[in-house]
Order: sequence, then structure tokens, then C-alpha cells
Amino acid sequence: MYLSILFPSILALYALYKNKITISGIILAWLLGIIICYLGGYIAFLALTIVFLLTILSDKIKSNKEDKTRNIMQIISNVLTATMCIVLFYVTNNNIFYIMYYCVIAGSLSDTLASSIGTLSKSKPINIFTLKKLKIGESGGVSLLGLFISLIGGMIIGSIYLIVEFNLMNFIIISFMGFLGSFFDSIVGTLLEAKYRCLKCHKKTNDKIHCKKKTKLIKGYSLIDNNVVNLLSNIFVFLISYLILK
Ligand SMILES: [Zn+2]
Repeated sequence: MYLSILFPSILALYALYKNKITISGIILAWLLGIIICYLGGYIAFLALTIVFLLTILSDKIKSNKEDKTRNIMQIISNVLTATMCIVLFYVTNNNIFYIMYYCVIAGSLSDTLASSIGTLSKSKPINIFTLKKLKIGESGGVSLLGLFISLIGGMIIGSIYLIVEFNLMNFIIISFMGFLGSFFDSIVGTLLEAKYRCLKCHKKTNDKIHCKKKTKLIKGYSLIDNNVVNLLSNIFVFLISYLILK
């Protein structure tokens, strides 16, 4: 019990020190971390820690450097579904939910890595539907490097699962769900995510404010920002992995 509070506290203090998450975001992440560590065990929490550390690391190598302080909405959209898997596992004692937890966070990690390392691709990403080339770093695009990195992200989380149980089939499922989650994220990003244009510098952006001015919606729905896309993608992985594993 003490360690289940201690480990998430260390991570929360690190996040505080790194100044990467707003205070309310850190408090929520800390609470969800305790739930995951206490109900799901240390390995489940280790997998979450890896996602957190690689997310911070990948922000550093992102080609379009922007201020990336995560807020409470980003924590909710990225960690809530995974936490729900652990709670369901604890309540029902059904191992499926435990494996689904790894699937969901594999999706999150794959998407994070694909949208950071993937942007380093020399070739331009393409829009999956129009097959048109996009600008590097524009969300919704798919590059070969991004797809490859998505698979690696899934395999990282799959490998952590192997510590708990050496089950190669589950390793493959988790790896594949990481890949699929990231791919789904790109599709929904392309189709529904709100895109804006800055009326001052005329750049395309995901933000409602640019150059300190309100931007104009040019594509997608204003209600659907990147957090909603991430949440939808997590729910998608949750459902598909349930269907595969049940
Ligand atoms: Zn601007």
C-alpha cells in the first residue's frame, strides 16, 4: 500500500519539477497513478511510467517545438480509459481487462511516438483519404516512419506485459493494438479534428488562439480537439481489444 502511494508520488514530483503538467493535471495523474499501482500492481504502473517518460522525451525531439504543458483534459483523455480497465479488472477479477489496460496505453504511447518521431520523417506524410501530401508535423497524416514507430510503441508496452506473463499471443495483441490505436487516431484526426487558420500569420494550427488573436475554423468540428481524438482512440482500442480477447 505504501509503495503504491510512494511510486506515483515520485512520478508526480518529477512532473512538477519538469513543469510539464499543470497542477490540477498533476493531482489527477497522481490519483489515477495510485489507483493503477494499488489495484493493478507495480508492473502495470511501470508501463504507465514508461509512457510518461517517453512522452516527455519525445516532446524534446519533436520537429515543431511548441509549448507542451499538459493540462487536466489531456490527463483525462489519455489515462482515464486505462484506469477504467484496471478498475474493471479489480472488480471482476477477469484477466481480459488487465490485458486491455496494456492495449489502451500501448495505443497512447504509439500515438505519442508517431506524432513526434514520425514527424522527423524525411518524406512528407500523406492524408490517408485524399492521398495528398501534407506538411510535416500536420496532424492526421500518415508516414511510413510513423507507422513503424507505432508498432515499436506497441511492442515496448507488450514487452513490459511479458514480465507479468510470458504469453506471446498477448504480446502480439498489445503490439498490434498500439499500432491500430495510433492509426485510428490519424484517421479521426484527419476526418473530424478541428483545424484553424491564423488570420494574422496565415499558418494552419490546432489552436483557437494564434498570434494572440482568435483563429478561424477551416476544417473539422470545433468541439473535437486533440484530447477528444485521443479519448475516442482509447475507447476504440478498449472495444476492439475486448472483442479480440473475450
Ligand atoms: Zn499566427
